Amino acid sequence: MSKKRIVFKVGTSTLCHAGKGLNFRNIEGLARALADVKNAGNEVVLVSSGAIGAGVGRLNLPERPRELRLTQAVAAVGQCELLHIFDKFFGEYGATVGQILLTKDDVERPAGRQNLLGTFETLLSLGVIPIVNENDSVAFEEIESEHHVFGDNDTLSAIVATLIGADMLVILSDSDGLFDGDPRRDASVKLIPIVEEIDARIEAMAGGAGSALGTGGMATKVAAARIAVAAGIDVIVTHGADPRNIYAAAAGEKVGTLFRRRL
Ligand code: GLU
Repeated sequence: MSKKRIVFKVGTSTLCHAGKGLNFRNIEGLARALADVKNAGNEVVLVSSGAIGAGVGRLNLPERPRELRLTQAVAAVGQCELLHIFDKFFGEYGATVGQILLTKDDVERPAGRQNLLGTFETLLSLGVIPIVNENDSVAFEEIESEHHVFGDNDTLSAIVATLIGADMLVILSDSDGLFDGDPRRDASVKLIPIVEEIDARIEAMAGGAGSALGTGGMATKVAAARIAVAAGIDVIVTHGADPRNIYAAAAGEKVGTLFRRRL
């Protein structure tokens, strides 16, 4: 297996239970598989959502808040909880993690980009697995829907993958990949194994909706794939609850939906 620089993105629906509270089985499986992929000689970056989801659980709130201040406060608590658990589980498998929280300025200003790239390169050269999220407690653009910047962590993961020149972006989802219809409504729909070109037909298949705690859905994954493939990065969307998908993606085996990079 050739050594690769791989960005993995994991969403709230993999990290948190639908009601509330962290999904330790999924988090542990993720940490173990990513530590293993790194030990096999790859460079691994994790873009993780779940700050708000974890905070909702930790503060025992009835649902994801709608109000901005409360959402930012909840994210501050949840991000802390999340990184504590990641540090614990990655540490169990001998992996060191480092936290990077981003705002739009860090990526949009050329000096900010250079600085950030330097931080990623240094962390990776030290063998660290950077864990990235938008700085939800500071940046209001992501969680306040009228002023999208990254918009969601799917897009953020594509921006990070482009910035660091990743070979591959693996988006771990609560779906096995892109289907030719809505698998939640129609059992006869089929998985699309390879997308050579993201056109209107593919976008229509991705539909719209996300989950109750996260902001994503298949549409934002396809939008993220569009950014990454244009930058020469292969994108795989696969289910995040089964660590075997992580091994398969890292090994270049067929899994989920592959959005093939534009050469
Ligand atoms: N940054 C948000 C969080 O960590 C999630 C954004 C998203 O769902 O894509 O909770």
